[in-house]
Amino acid sequence: MSSFPARAVIDLAAIRANVRSLASHAPTAQVLAVVKADAYGHGLLPVAQAAVDAGATWLGVAQLGEALELRAHGVTTRLLTWLYAPGAPLGQAVAADVDLSVAAPWALDEVVAAARAVGRPARVHLKVDTGLGRNGLTPAQLPDVLDAALRAEAEGAVQVVGLWSHLAFADEPDHPAVRAQAVVFAEALALVEGRGARLEVRHLANSAATLTSPELHYDLVRPGIAVYGLSPVPQLGGPADFGLTPAMTLEAELVTVKEVPAGQGVSYAHAYVTPGTTTLGVVPLGYADGVPRHASGAADRPGGPLLVGGRRLSVAGRVCMDQVVVDLGPGAPDRAGDRVELFGTGAAGGPTAQDWADVAETISYEIVTRVGGRVPRVHVDSERDEAVAEPQAEGAAR
Ligand SMILES: *Cc1c(COP(=O)(O)O)cnc(C)c1O
Repeated sequence: MSSFPARAVIDLAAIRANVRSLASHAPTAQVLAVVKADAYGHGLLPVAQAAVDAGATWLGVAQLGEALELRAHGVTTRLLTWLYAPGAPLGQAVAADVDLSVAAPWALDEVVAAARAVGRPARVHLKVDTGLGRNGLTPAQLPDVLDAALRAEAEGAVQVVGLWSHLAFADEPDHPAVRAQAVVFAEALALVEGRGARLEVRHLANSAATLTSPELHYDLVRPGIAVYGLSPVPQLGGPADFGLTPAMTLEAELVTVKEVPAGQGVSYAHAYVTPGTTTLGVVPLGYADGVPRHASGAADRPGGPLLVGGRRLSVAGRVCMDQVVVDLGPGAPDRAGDRVELFGTGAAGGPTAQDWADVAETISYEIVTRVGGRVPRVHVDSERDEAVAEPQAEGAAR
């Protein structure tokens, strides 16, 4: 066991159940589980394996390095990566049978050059910017890049296997921008197929669209946050409403419990002052571990929620780099060493990553992906009821 007094426990059975649930929401599509950013902080390799075990036939990562790491560890599932800069080692991706997104004219040139050098065709997904205004070929750029890609295909340097795009308002399914992007995507598709591309997969849907917009599923859905059991549309429903279970529980042990008098200022700048005689507990997780400093508590504003001894409490005063303080109340029974849950499945009144997101005015994605590299990830399997991996710092896997 790590000596670190806190950990993120990841239930791989929840990951598997979530992937199955997503597949049932998109029965006509394959599932690409997005495992970028160290599987949203949950641990790349164990999550990727669990997703594949549950039927994901594709995996997706933003960074090439994560794709190569999956291959280096024997993951043979179809794999798409999409964010690289000029000069990236694309030959390694081609040699490792990693599908590459092409989102700019220069990218096609580099993919073709890499494929020629390696001596095998690169599998390419053309990315169209249908309205997100981020990555992707504009509809104006698409025809020329498509023609160049089809020439490279004729020569054996690439296979144009996919056309894809990404939504700006998927979490607001009724927003007119969703419909507008779908129209642009359909037009791009007609162009690409009309010029003779034989696509394997057309894909547009992230978690939100997978759960709420079946008309956008096409051949492949690309859920990320829902794989981890968090709702992409918290205003429309929580995880349980979509058949999802949060996979990560962030927990720690109290390192100090002590009685203090009324009027005790708590943590930096005394943003919280004890209203009466009470008990303070110190929790050894802070903003270096991903606890948002925006979830600090003050007299008029409770901080991030915590479950201690079955009671739902909140951070008192400023979130520090390594620790937070909780007001346990007068005569509290808690002891140093007792377990504190910052977030988890939400069962038994416990807080969730969404609750932290609400307090910090952000999204649950940021809460789980920010859990720091020094916090050990402990992978468990509630179906098999055993730890499946030694605690491992996030950074150590890279
Ligand atoms: C991150 C990402 C996804 C997954 O998004 P979620 O909202 O987490 O489901 C899908 N596609 C692309 C291109 C992404 O960058």
